[in-house]
Amino acid sequence: MSPGFCRRCASPLVPGVPEGEDRPRLQCPACGHVEYQNPRVRAGCLAGCGSGTAVLRTVLVQPGERLQSAALRALGASLPEDDLALYCAITDRGAGEVSLVFRSLAGLLGGRGGQEGESVPQWQSALLEQFEADLHRPDVPVYTAEFNGGRLLLAVVERS
Ligand SMILES: [Zn+2]
Repeated sequence: MSPGFCRRCASPLVPGVPEGEDRPRLQCPACGHVEYQNPRVRAGCLAGCGSGTAVLRTVLVQPGERLQSAALRALGASLPEDDLALYCAITDRGAGEVSLVFRSLAGLLGGRGGQEGESVPQWQSALLEQFEADLHRPDVPVYTAEFNGGRLLLAVVERS
């Protein structure tokens, strides 16, 4: 879904490698504007809700919004930010998104997430499964992950 016209001067964009860069971008030959296409950033929060089950809620981070604020907004709970620990950083090339998923140390305190009207990432169920397995461990790892061909490939970065 690439834009066809310059957002500054409405001239047709053409692909090319901008000076000093190493990959092709859409550029405006009239005014020099470069149309960068960056991944969307998603923040999420996992929380256990007793009996070994967990919930994961995510939202797209808004411009200027802090990651932790977005994660708490996703969870729909008013918790202090110190109740969040980073759990997984996920690259989802297919969706053009990077996601930072936190876990709530306090557990789920009710409330509704901010997921209505937003797409649910395809990796969600795989990460939930991993989190439910990690929930009762004394040392919950921090992961990086890549969602690739329908599979979530997790790598442990650090144990806390
Ligand atoms: Zn232009």
